[in-house]
Amino acid sequence: MIVEVPDNIIPLDNILPEEPLLMMGAGPVPLPSRVAAANSIVINHLGDTMAKVVQQIKKMSSYVFQTQSQHILGVAGPGSAAMEMAIANLVKPKSKVLSICNGFFSSRLAEMSERIGADVSYLNIEKPEYANIDEVAEYISRIKPQVVTIVQGETSNTVFNRTLPEICKLAREQGCMVVVDAVCTLSTMPLEMDNWGVDAVITGGQKGLASIPGVSLIAFSDKAWAFIEGRNDQLHHWCLDAKLADKFWYKNSYHYTAPVSGLLALHEALRLICIETLELRFERHMRHSVALQDGIEALGLSLYVDKDARLNSVVGICVPEGIQGPEILKHMSERYRVEISGSFGPNIVRIGQMGEQCRSHHLFRALHALGSTIKALGVEVDVPAGVAQLELTLENFPVK
Ligand SMILES: *Cc1c(COP(=O)(O)O)cnc(C)c1O
Repeated sequence: MIVEVPDNIIPLDNILPEEPLLMMGAGPVPLPSRVAAANSIVINHLGDTMAKVVQQIKKMSSYVFQTQSQHILGVAGPGSAAMEMAIANLVKPKSKVLSICNGFFSSRLAEMSERIGADVSYLNIEKPEYANIDEVAEYISRIKPQVVTIVQGETSNTVFNRTLPEICKLAREQGCMVVVDAVCTLSTMPLEMDNWGVDAVITGGQKGLASIPGVSLIAFSDKAWAFIEGRNDQLHHWCLDAKLADKFWYKNSYHYTAPVSGLLALHEALRLICIETLELRFERHMRHSVALQDGIEALGLSLYVDKDARLNSVVGICVPEGIQGPEILKHMSERYRVEISGSFGPNIVRIGQMGEQCRSHHLFRALHALGSTIKALGVEVDVPAGVAQLELTLENFPVK
């Protein structure tokens, strides 16, 4: 044997904390118990039972994506794999792509297009602001891209592209396809795929949908599908080839072994969304997010993004002078067993409000942990005022 059996391997129970941390960061989010239970089951990846599950996932996804498209596909992979599936299928080498880049994830879409060999133009938005519609119009008419890529919510710096519906309309009028990354936003705020004219909507499991990481969904419009069907070049990506994935998702046959347990989990996550209804789910997210934002400001802290460009599914909080983001995270998880996220770039920490995160008891615990932590680290904050404001806004929302 060239490799001996390893010693010092300890059981998982000795690695994981006895009581799980409350996951209040930018994803993954806590799992509803139905979703966690479904994730522990394995069934045959083909056959009648799976076909029924797939059928229902597509039906429920139609509702969640607000589309009548018959081209909704699951992906065994992270949100990034769904992003790559959109790009690999809709972008060809030398295609002109306009990437609207507000931050880390929107830039990832651009990088994926670059790797395909596309001719990528960047509309970089340096400040934490949403895309300006006049600027986008100018770029589109000058560059004449075949594909425009954009995020609905830029999780990395907590910016919300409020102008997305107008941008989709504009792009459609100019004959471009629009790829929208809705990983952190789908089912937390309106996204009307058909009404807005989006050609590919990307989502992951572990954020807005409140399912597990590693199993994602993508929906293509009829126009996008016609483009995909019309391609006669061979994709470099085999797993992400939408025409091959169609075999499993619409023809009950084999592409690769589907992530069965993850799809069962996704089925339950989607079912919980259907039971709640999108209207009530959007309202729950808006109300809890605004209340949390008010609570944070009442503590005496500042939010990173101005109100009109602020994402309501992940909120960025400026790290007060004199302390460091990582110290906040460490203290919150050790002392209060609440986990939030740091950032890639700006000096902020981020609290998520996606799916199960958006329950008032979790928000009270997270806000209290944040305030008490910052106080313990030596910065003056008013914890009782913050918690009281969270309660007041929850009670009085919507403030008319
Ligand atoms: C998290 C996230 C992604 C990437 O998802 P992974 O599952 O980490 O690959 C992409 N886009 C946005 C907006 C995200 O929030």
